[in-house]
Amino acid sequence: MTSENSDVTGDSGPGLAALVASGTVDVPDFPKPGILFKDLMPLFGDGATFRKVVDGIVGHYGADSFDVVAGVEARGFVVAAAVAYATGTGVVPVRKAGKLPRPAFSATYALEYGEATLEVSEDAFTAGQRVLVVDDVLATGGTAAATMDLVEQAGGVIAGFTVLMELGFLDGRKRLEPRGVHALLTV
Ligand code: AMP
Repeated sequence: MTSENSDVTGDSGPGLAALVASGTVDVPDFPKPGILFKDLMPLFGDGATFRKVVDGIVGHYGADSFDVVAGVEARGFVVAAAVAYATGTGVVPVRKAGKLPRPAFSATYALEYGEATLEVSEDAFTAGQRVLVVDDVLATGGTAAATMDLVEQAGGVIAGFTVLMELGFLDGRKRLEPRGVHALLTV
């Protein structure tokens, strides 16, 4: 872990933003040249930091403001399960194509090169169920937009969208308007 950095910003204040920053390692040129990969595994692996980050997400949303947490494969699963456990709600995995064993809704979206498809089980939500969507990193917003479309296709209502880190220069937040984004750290 690096030392806390006082000039970091995020939607839950500088303390949590600094915690996320301190638990992240920048990996240049992964998974391909030109991408600076934000590796949050150190944050997940540090019990005290992980708990504070999860508590920060839970604290941002009022009591009883969502019914279930949806996490995006794969790192979103880690955060979603912890938030669901902390709030006594359920967790729904939003999976990459071809992994779900029963009928599923699909959403295909553009990546920097090519495209990707995400899926959610058709019976993942009850009608009108309030869904908090979580992921580790918001970059261009394509993954988040596809996930929120899937939640709505499956009858859920978006209660919120939280990421640990937002890459502000990619303007993913703008793409998701009018839906709001809660990012613990904006870089
Ligand atoms: P995007 O659809 O462009 O917003 O990309 C977001 C998804 O890709 C998230 O599920 C992230 O886990 C992953 N991702 C995109 N860019 C990065 C990055 N620089 N570092 C780590 N993960 C990333």
